[in-house]
Amino acid sequence: MSAMAVRVWCPDWCTVTEQTHLDDLRNNDGEVIHSSADFGHVDSEDYALSAIGSPDGVLRPEDPTHAPVMCMAGNGELIHPDDMERHARALLDMVARARGEQKERQR
Ligand SMILES: [Zn+2]
Repeated sequence: MSAMAVRVWCPDWCTVTEQTHLDDLRNNDGEVIHSSADFGHVDSEDYALSAIGSPDGVLRPEDPTHAPVMCMAGNGELIHPDDMERHARALLDMVARARGEQKERQR
């Protein structure tokens, strides 16, 4: 019986195994690295979510320009959710124009 059993809290999107998180604690200064399976597949690009935090569930931005949870492209690049949202809105706007849909601006 171990008195040092460590429970790791995960965001609901995290798909990392508990054993990997326990390895994180040893290899990453007592912090765990949460990661999702890939969300969305756009052309050859996969996106997932990534966050670093303490085992009790406190997530911290990796640096001051980051959000506590970042989007991660398939090449490992971290993208702020705000930037991802701007990109997604621009794409949707372009799709709407391509289809000849009117924007809801005259009301
Ligand atoms: Zn996790």
